[in-house]
Amino acid sequence: MISFSVTHTSDKSNARRGVLLTPHGEVQTPAFIPVATQATIKALPTFLLEETTTQMIIANTYHLHLRPGESIIQNHGSIHSFMGWDHPVMTDSGGFQVFSLGFGKDFHSQKMTSQPSYDQVREGAQPKLLTIGEDGVTFTSYIDGKELFLGPQESITIQEQIGADIMFSFDECPPPFADHAYVKTSLQKTHRWAQHSLDARKGTNALYGIIQGGRYKDLREESARYITSLPFDGFGIGGEFGSKKEDMTTMLSSIHPFLPPQKPRHLLGVGHLEDIPLIIKEGVDTFDCIVPTHYARHGYAFTSQGKIDIRKRIHQDSQDPLDPSCSCRVCSHYSTGYIHHLLRSHEIAALSLLTLHNIHYFHSYVADLRTQIEQNKL
Ligand SMILES: [Zn+2]
Repeated sequence: MISFSVTHTSDKSNARRGVLLTPHGEVQTPAFIPVATQATIKALPTFLLEETTTQMIIANTYHLHLRPGESIIQNHGSIHSFMGWDHPVMTDSGGFQVFSLGFGKDFHSQKMTSQPSYDQVREGAQPKLLTIGEDGVTFTSYIDGKELFLGPQESITIQEQIGADIMFSFDECPPPFADHAYVKTSLQKTHRWAQHSLDARKGTNALYGIIQGGRYKDLREESARYITSLPFDGFGIGGEFGSKKEDMTTMLSSIHPFLPPQKPRHLLGVGHLEDIPLIIKEGVDTFDCIVPTHYARHGYAFTSQGKIDIRKRIHQDSQDPLDPSCSCRVCSHYSTGYIHHLLRSHEIAALSLLTLHNIHYFHSYVADLRTQIEQNKL
């Protein structure tokens, strides 16, 4: 079980400071949650993750179910002992990955890069690679081609076996290019699955319900009203909000009145650096995103001067750290010129160093926002 307390709400916005207490320790909120898809942050061993000041990670139910399988993780005790991380862990429900296999593949889109043309997916449409039924989704494993089924019952059982401190209810994540009728029907399913997810829970792991509704304000509000009426421990906000950045904040502010203030809120899959103050001002407590780790593996460092491509020749002779104001171990030990050299030499250590720095940078950025909330500046 978890407990959550709000310690301060800003005078200037809906931003709030809080403490989330889990069986594996506490999380000072607002907090950025790095993504550990396969029970590791990509390119970063767990003992180095502790250097980044990470408080909680989010692992991926869909991927861990496919490989190694939840029983292997359970035989280790839980995901904490499996990956050597004695701190809080969230698992997503697997819904997003299953559904991005469907319409996502059909339309060649991914959450980070999608430029959808709207209203292509209509009510009753089925994606090619999976079958969405009343009780869940039938799909094919990308590892061995086996046919698999995932519904709320299966998702919760898997998440309990993984041993997450915080689990998410199984939802249909509608494609960004779905029309209103599709999202409305999909939402009814997500709402039924929310109740089934609660019914399936056997243990004491915390469970968050997920608010969906796509880019439609009426459906988002309907979903917020219904999901918050159920006895969840917290609430996730999922899916797409529309094509413009403002759509996200408009939607968050429209559902804010429905969210019970005493329960934690997690925004799924959002966290470009420039988005972070905006979502925190709308009362988001935790959020996960692959941005810092994804860009690290492509040779980019986040710094107070912006996002920098360290492979560029201009860095060849630099003896400065990636960011002079950063207190991470990479910035106190290595020059930008050295990391540039590793990248140019295709040494994989470069990716670990950039990943460590980027995650640390994101956490420092959010820690500063926590202070700003306490001072009523945000
Ligand atoms: Zn650094």
